[in-house]
Amino acid sequence: MAIRKIIQNGDPVLLKKSRAVERFDVRLAQLLDDLIATMNKAEGCGLAAVQVGVLKRAAVVDTGDGIVELINPEIIDTVGWQEEEEGCLSFPGESGVTRRPMSVRVRAQNRDGTWCFYKVDGLKARAFCHEIDHMNGILYKTHVIREK
Ligand code: ZN
Repeated sequence: MAIRKIIQNGDPVLLKKSRAVERFDVRLAQLLDDLIATMNKAEGCGLAAVQVGVLKRAAVVDTGDGIVELINPEIIDTVGWQEEEEGCLSFPGESGVTRRPMSVRVRAQNRDGTWCFYKVDGLKARAFCHEIDHMNGILYKTHVIREK
């Protein structure tokens, strides 16, 4: 397990679209372990592979009740809206109020390649949407409706 450098402050790699994960191998497991260690050290609640310079559709989320690994995630549907303060480990010290779905259903693979289904709301829904956006090169700033 290694702490990786988090890419910050408008580096253009953050605007790139990540590619689907096809191999569920040792390298993927190592990437996920590194993402977890790096997220924990930075005290964040989510981190996508692109943020450490790896253009793969993989991310980790931990909103306080355990780590979820999202590989090749797809949003199935969303319900309602929430407006809350949001930030990003790639933009330290910045935040804004974003508009996000209140609740989302997502399917994603785990590190073994098994498809898992999630129904999450509140902070966790925001974190899932935030990380999935990263895989499409979309930053949270796109969703900011007002500054804090
Ligand atoms: Zn982020």
